[in-house]
Amino acid sequence: MPPSVESLAATGLSRRSFFRFAAGASALATTPFLSESHLAFAAIPDFADPNIGIHIDANENPMGPCDAARQAIANIIPRGGRYLFPLDDVPAQTFAKQQGLDPEFVVSFAGSSEPLHYTVLAFTGKDKPLVTADPGYEAPIWAAKAAGAPVIKVPLADPKGAATHDIKAMLAASPNPGVLYICNPNNPTGTVTPREQIEYAVHNAPKDTVLLIDEAYIHFCDQPSSLQYVKEGRNVIVLRTFSKIYGMAGLRMGFAIGRPDLLKKIARFYGLNALPITAVAAANASLADSSLVPTRKKLIGDTRTETIAWLKSKGYSTTPSVSNCFMLDVGRPGKEVQAALAAKQMFVGRIWPAWPNSLRITVGTPDEMMAFRKAFSEVMSGATAGLKPAPLPGRLAAYPYTHLS
Ligand code: PLP
Repeated sequence: MPPSVESLAATGLSRRSFFRFAAGASALATTPFLSESHLAFAAIPDFADPNIGIHIDANENPMGPCDAARQAIANIIPRGGRYLFPLDDVPAQTFAKQQGLDPEFVVSFAGSSEPLHYTVLAFTGKDKPLVTADPGYEAPIWAAKAAGAPVIKVPLADPKGAATHDIKAMLAASPNPGVLYICNPNNPTGTVTPREQIEYAVHNAPKDTVLLIDEAYIHFCDQPSSLQYVKEGRNVIVLRTFSKIYGMAGLRMGFAIGRPDLLKKIARFYGLNALPITAVAAANASLADSSLVPTRKKLIGDTRTETIAWLKSKGYSTTPSVSNCFMLDVGRPGKEVQAALAAKQMFVGRIWPAWPNSLRITVGTPDEMMAFRKAFSEVMSGATAGLKPAPLPGRLAAYPYTHLS
């Protein structure tokens, strides 16, 4: 029997060296391209073994791929020696048909991180800033830095309440943004920005600005999608991923949806790589499973509601999330609580510098969330040692995290 990948990764050394490599070796600039997987991993305190314990730290879906997707993967494995290039477009075509979009408007990638980075690289620059929300998903910031573009972070409106994007302030932040990034629902808060606000941005953004609307978490909520603006021919690129509700983060599949002339600026400039055929097969099977989204939305939504209600009953406030993650105000430096939880092998999400007393919690399985309640109660009551200042996490030290603050 060959060794399992988990056993090969047990020391964490290879991944740590990856970060050193990533920090110094980006071909485009001195800043690496980082996405949720890197950022979540990097935030794990150095003393902890990331290969064990409960992980509610990367907004993954513990359910994994649906049964039909698993079967589709098994069926296609014998053909794994081939590129099967013609199959690459099949999920995009299926999606386009389901959404009433022209197939030319949808391109598949191995996850949505690539088109996210590429859009920022293609449309921002020295005089064309990235405007983004704070706290918000950090990946576009890294890409903007690689593009040499200024980054303007605009605090969320009503941070103690609805925590929506402050669209008017975002529009006022720069006369000529290259990209205005709207993550809806937002990572890390799980909150939605109402449709009228998005519409306002679509109608009032400068004519050369691209609105990058990231719908990684759209399936968890009742908010209508922004695909309509793509259909209207606006300067909008919508991102979708199979990493969240579809449970395929490790398989890698996502879409960029936009006008062909916008997509060409991404694809022609940066090229398109072949896709893993397992992910192509799984994505297509997932799209065909009409019960997947409503079933998982309800399961995860129920677990989220119960967890948040319990936290409130204990006196803690959270963001009003409609997604698979929320921010939890722990009333003291979040880093300390994160480290104390990690010492109990309970891995929760990272801290955003704008909200240092809050931790991002991903909604896991009901059992995982019960274990979280127990560990959190122990840590917050000080029943066990743990609220010592966290040692500087070595994984963070391995790359220039300070770029984000
Ligand atoms: N966009 C947002 C807002 C995310 O939170 C993530 C991952 O967590 C992604 C995009 C990228 O996901 P992936 O590259 O796995 O599709």
